[in-house]
Amino acid sequence: MNHYVDFVNIEELLTDEEKMVLGTTNEFVMERVKPIIGDYYEKGEFPFQLVKEMASLGLFGATLNEYGGAGISNTAYGLMMQELERGDSGVRSFASVQSALVIYPIYTFGSEEQRQKYLPGLIQGEKIGCFGLTEADFGSNPGGMKTNAVKKGDRWILNGSKMWITNGTIADVAVVWAKTPDGIRGFLVEKGMKGFSAPEIKHKASLRASITSELVFEDVELPESQLMPNSQGLKCPLKCLTQARYGIGWGAIGAAMDCYLTALDYSKTRIQFDSPIAAFQLVQQKLADMLTEITKAQLLALQVGRLKDKGKAEYVHISMLKRNNVYMALNIAREARDILGANGISLEYPVIRHMCNLESVKTYEGTHDVHALILGEHITGIPAFRARND
Ligand SMILES: Cc1cc2nc3c(=O)[nH]c(=O)nc-3n(C[C@H](O)[C@H](O)[C@H](O)COP(=O)(O)OP(=O)(O)OC[C@H]3O[C@@H](n4cnc5c(N)ncnc54)[C@H](O)[C@@H]3O)c2cc1C
Repeated sequence: MNHYVDFVNIEELLTDEEKMVLGTTNEFVMERVKPIIGDYYEKGEFPFQLVKEMASLGLFGATLNEYGGAGISNTAYGLMMQELERGDSGVRSFASVQSALVIYPIYTFGSEEQRQKYLPGLIQGEKIGCFGLTEADFGSNPGGMKTNAVKKGDRWILNGSKMWITNGTIADVAVVWAKTPDGIRGFLVEKGMKGFSAPEIKHKASLRASITSELVFEDVELPESQLMPNSQGLKCPLKCLTQARYGIGWGAIGAAMDCYLTALDYSKTRIQFDSPIAAFQLVQQKLADMLTEITKAQLLALQVGRLKDKGKAEYVHISMLKRNNVYMALNIAREARDILGANGISLEYPVIRHMCNLESVKTYEGTHDVHALILGEHITGIPAFRARND
């Protein structure tokens, strides 16, 4: 394996299939993603040419056995996400959205007709999807959403807007959550439908190699066939987020490994005061902390993966995984940036790119603090999401 960190021989705990998936994705990322991704980040563009290649590696809908999915374990899928994010959080975000936020809800809440229509194309990378939950005024509290759909004759009329939607501008199909008289339901809105537009959000300093968009719905008319029949209530989009957060918890490890290994190499060759900076105790302490934190994060991810494979992973396990591992990766990126000195702010090295990306990863799919509240409620039995007015 190239550019890998495995201090306590975690590979020994993997199945042959998982080792194979890890090796293949690692090779793809080292050969096809890492050499080009810095340029795409600087240009603020997503590398589209990778989509078909990712699909041919079975990266989309990887845990599904049907509709062309590779049918691999959740742990193997996690390892895929880890390797993708070693390349870039934007590339991993693309795969997370396609699999966890588009293929998963269509498979779980869609009709058989909708599954047949959309899943094979999404899994083969011929179609791109996006997931619209967040609104400008409702991020951590999506249940307050204003986007709504009302029935008029045999059509649904969709109005409202979504904000910060990954892949929105390039998506062929958007999974959109809207309030209806019967509560929150999920709709499948196709590119080109009258009244639907998806302008790109510019000026991002983070996740620049990923497309982020607004979705705007102005009296979009949807036939009944575009409503996912088994979607009912906020718990449905939250279930999708649990899937995506699981992949993020693994992905962050890849970004952390790339930062750690870059800092380690740099520290051995950078000479100050006549010594490589790796010879200084303060630098060694940083490297020791990084390796320790990566190792702990790998073990957490592996055990949550094993639980998920047995159907025993709870949303709180996944909150802890996302919260801990993203925070770990962001701290390692910041320390690695420091070890690189002035070069730490240069896009000639991957560290500042990972660091800026991880600032978004910390915020999306439930912020770091919102996951503390989810865990806090689980630990104490007392929800603390709303401010007390008494
Ligand atoms: C690059 C990018 C891509 C994204 N992609 C998608 C996507 O594909 N689909 C999608 O639907 N959304 C997407 N999002 C949106 C993302 O999920 C939201 O940004 C996130 O949920 C946070 O919402 P917010 O930005 O409105 O922050 P806010 O909810 O306004 O939070 C601001 C601050 O307040 C804190 N806060 C909020 N509520 C509480 C509370 N009760 N107690 C304590 N602190 C609190 C938060 O922790 C945070 O620090 C994306 C975001 C980014 C940046």
